[in-house]
Amino acid sequence: MTTFTPQSWESRADAYSFYGFTDLPSVHQRGTVVLTHGEGPYVVDVNGRRYLDANSGLWNMIAGFDHAGLADAAKDQYDRFPGYHAFFGRMSDQTVMLSEKLIQVSPYDRGRVFYTNSGSEANDTMVKMLWFLNRSEGRPQARKILTRVNAYHGVTVVSASMTGKPYNSVFGLPLDGFLHLTCPHYWREGQPGETEAEFTARLAQELEDMIQREGADTIAGFFAEPVMGAGGVIPPSEGYFQAIQPILKKHGIPLIADEVICGLGRTGEMWGCQTYDFTPDAIISSKALTAGLFPMGAVILGPDLSDRMQAAAEAIEEFPHGFTASGHPVGCAIALKAIDVIENEGLLDNVRRLTPRFEAGLAQLAENPNIGEWRGKGLMGALEAVKDKANKTPFASDLSVSERIANTCTDHGLICRPLGQSIVLCPPFIMTDAQMDEMFEKLEVALKAVFAEVG
Ligand SMILES: *Cc1c(COP(=O)(O)O)cnc(C)c1O
Repeated sequence: MTTFTPQSWESRADAYSFYGFTDLPSVHQRGTVVLTHGEGPYVVDVNGRRYLDANSGLWNMIAGFDHAGLADAAKDQYDRFPGYHAFFGRMSDQTVMLSEKLIQVSPYDRGRVFYTNSGSEANDTMVKMLWFLNRSEGRPQARKILTRVNAYHGVTVVSASMTGKPYNSVFGLPLDGFLHLTCPHYWREGQPGETEAEFTARLAQELEDMIQREGADTIAGFFAEPVMGAGGVIPPSEGYFQAIQPILKKHGIPLIADEVICGLGRTGEMWGCQTYDFTPDAIISSKALTAGLFPMGAVILGPDLSDRMQAAAEAIEEFPHGFTASGHPVGCAIALKAIDVIENEGLLDNVRRLTPRFEAGLAQLAENPNIGEWRGKGLMGALEAVKDKANKTPFASDLSVSERIANTCTDHGLICRPLGQSIVLCPPFIMTDAQMDEMFEKLEVALKAVFAEVG
């Protein structure tokens, strides 16, 4: 444990801040990186050190850290009308415009949008909507929620129950009735001799079996990220959504796409479901929605769920749910600008333009004998560290290999994220070729240094 000077930023951070999702031994040893501002895809700390943030903050700062147009949209709205709610038949003009815009850029020709402050709350809200709908339509027992192992859907009690990560056991979660299917990661979960098509078929059969066992009439919905993000950037196996959606349809179970990371361009299309060619019954959006400038999430209901939810609400004259800041005018104004920037200022185009360079960089680093697999889609990617490539044997977890790689990257001015045994990259959409090359050069130095120690 390092002793930091009293009154240093490190000591002050450590004394008064309770950290979430933070490796405490690393923080105690290295000190918290305290940041003051950003420049494009770089962030700058209190000592003036610059870091290329290859994680877009937390997947969300897609336009970088000093986008003038986005900040102006916020400032203008703060001057015009700095806050309001969306209860009791009142809402801001920005809220009206954003819902219209979201349906316009969604895969739906019509639908309705409901706002929250976060992705977790949007998933939570969607579950409440399904429970509300099923009671209204005479199926009060239809409450179970299906997700996958390794899924990340958030941290509220319900969204943490949907999340398929072992760490939630420290809270005594998941709640009953939240069931997790196999993660569609062929490289890790495929059985010896099994082809990718056979793997996908096995997962589809597992879903069918689970529905039969639990009873279709007890299940409220199936939630899936098009590409799993915080599970370690895991694209679905070939044909996965095409295999599971007919099963869900047959049993009348809605498919909800959690597009909190994939949505708004990350995978190279506006929505991850478009990249993987399926149409979900509803979409959950957050993170890139305000390009990271405002806390906001949205539930986007497709036509069928929108009509049925509207009818269910009409039947009791209101939907008794909402957050004080749901549809906040400043958040909505920023989101309108963010969508404009993604569509019309070349951000989505840049994701598409950079993707081949990104994939080539990942593939090249994956030639390292201690990288078992590279994977990704659009501008989200991961490299998985292994002790033995041929047998896919992981490093002992107490070696903290991915944390060491990420810490070494930080020492070289690159921020990337350790996730399990993987290193995750999800650069901002504004990156240049030179910045992408810098990212891979720095990561390569760190990989070589750490593997030389532990390999
Ligand atoms: C981040 C994330 C969430 C939770 O969003 P918060 O704003 O952190 O509550 C939900 N789903 C996915 C896929 C996410 O990546």
